[in-house]
Amino acid sequence: MTMDRTLDRTPSRARVVIVGAGFAGLETARHLAAGGVDDILVIEGGPAGDLRHTNVAHDPDTAVHLWLDPAQDPYHQRPWESASHRHFAGNAGIRARLGGRSLYWYGVTLPLEDWALDTGHWPAPIVDDLTLSWRGGPSLYERTATDLGLTWEQGTVASPGPVRLLGDYALRPTPRASRTHPEQPGRWSAYSPLDHWRDPATGAVTGFPDAIHLLTGTAVRQVSVHEGRVTGVVVTDPHTGAPVPVTADTVVLCAGTVESSRLAIQALHPRAGAEPRLGGLADHLAQGFFVRLDSRSAPRPLPLRPGSYYVPVPEAKCNLFVSLWRESRAELVLDVKINGELPPDPGSYVACEPGPAYPWPTRVHAHVGAGGRVVIAAQREVLAGVWSAVATAFGLSGELRFGDYDDPAATNAAVLPRNRENYPIGQPQSWVSALGAEDHDGGTLPLGSMLTENHEFAQLSGLYAAGPATFARLGAANPSLTTMALARRLSAVLADRLLASVPAEGGQA
Ligand SMILES: Cc1cc2nc3c(=O)[nH]c(=O)nc-3n(C[C@H](O)[C@H](O)[C@H](O)COP(=O)(O)OP(=O)(O)OC[C@H]3O[C@@H](n4cnc5c(N)ncnc54)[C@H](O)[C@@H]3O)c2cc1C
Repeated sequence: MTMDRTLDRTPSRARVVIVGAGFAGLETARHLAAGGVDDILVIEGGPAGDLRHTNVAHDPDTAVHLWLDPAQDPYHQRPWESASHRHFAGNAGIRARLGGRSLYWYGVTLPLEDWALDTGHWPAPIVDDLTLSWRGGPSLYERTATDLGLTWEQGTVASPGPVRLLGDYALRPTPRASRTHPEQPGRWSAYSPLDHWRDPATGAVTGFPDAIHLLTGTAVRQVSVHEGRVTGVVVTDPHTGAPVPVTADTVVLCAGTVESSRLAIQALHPRAGAEPRLGGLADHLAQGFFVRLDSRSAPRPLPLRPGSYYVPVPEAKCNLFVSLWRESRAELVLDVKINGELPPDPGSYVACEPGPAYPWPTRVHAHVGAGGRVVIAAQREVLAGVWSAVATAFGLSGELRFGDYDDPAATNAAVLPRNRENYPIGQPQSWVSALGAEDHDGGTLPLGSMLTENHEFAQLSGLYAAGPATFARLGAANPSLTTMALARRLSAVLADRLLASVPAEGGQA
């Protein structure tokens, strides 16, 4: 058996169609199947070739190149145009392959912060399900963490090991859902829903639920709608390029934030008053610095052991990450990064140009307004404090300079090994990510407004969505723990609905 259970041809109908076999799509499919739903069709635009995580398939330098230098990655696609200087351009995009970005992520598993899960944005029942208790048992966060082999403790994922102090910041090891390769040093994989069906180290398929059918190499061009109800999707036949309809009463958009937005805009626009655009687009504000350190003049013992650490900085609505590694016998590299929430901005949205042909051309507008500038300034203060502590510990001087956020001297591509060598030892090099570059895109299909508490489009019955696109507020935390928790919730809602409507023999549902 191969994972490419690509039905030789597109089936004419399915009970549930999931658009996109990335993180959210596969996680939703597996929970639906576990909940007893069958005839689930997952449609993926990219191929089912190599099923390994990039950090298993490649050495660390090559893997980071594939992410930050998309020309190197055959799976990178950007099916939209950026209307904003540098944002949602460059390495921003989808990774069109079975597994999507679950085969690239770093496994950092943090829950959304209390301040981000505010019930002014998020529906209170969803906040309770995530954090307190779901269906009379442990919370969704706790269940998800436990499934990943992590421990849920005091409202977050517990991280082992001692706390380390860097300046004013008490760092803890970063919780990650990842495992090292059993035989190849330096190689590792982060959790992917594919782990349930193939060996993460070799990519060999181990089994696959009968309830799920995969259609790969086939892009969904539109969602079909009739009288305010979803009736299925239309795909592009990979051989002929012709449109082929697939009938389904239930469709779940899991195509990544911008593509799910395009499909939603196309489906919603013909309805009275719907503009061909969706607001709320966000990504994390991310900036940082790295410094090459001469290990021979490093203090003994090192103030920080090699590894990855983090600390929440709620006053700046950010999380600070610090990684130290040994590049060679003579050199250490310290990489410091801060991720913060981009407050909603009316200048950030996904817009389509309606026309007779699908897919509609899509443009992404991204803007950092006054609220975002406050976060950026607060981040720089934190980074300056960290640099000062590092400089003191290592006996260095030099100043951290960032320059203009919109036109930075260096982006996160500065940390690529081939670029790092251009920077002298002992001199900190700052960098600033463009929006979209961190791949934490989300926010255009918020639960509680665009979507109901049941993850269904308020204006289109039968249409659902999953993934960071559905976050009512992005917070500072990396999104995937929440993506997984919400996919579980959505699947249970759908299973309840679908299993309650199983047609009696010979009857209509
Ligand atoms: C290098 C890297 C590191 C990251 N690290 C972390 C981390 O440590 N922690 C964390 O929480 N998050 C991390 N992320 C972010 C995380 O990977 C994403 O938030 C997550 O994968 C998004 O899931 P998704 O299902 O919405 O999108 P994706 O995983 O991108 O899946 C979308 C899928 O839909 C398919 N698709 C798109 N359009 C169509 C169409 N029209 N028809 C059919 N299929 C379509 C795509 O090909 C893709 O396979 C990281 C991302 C990257 C790239």
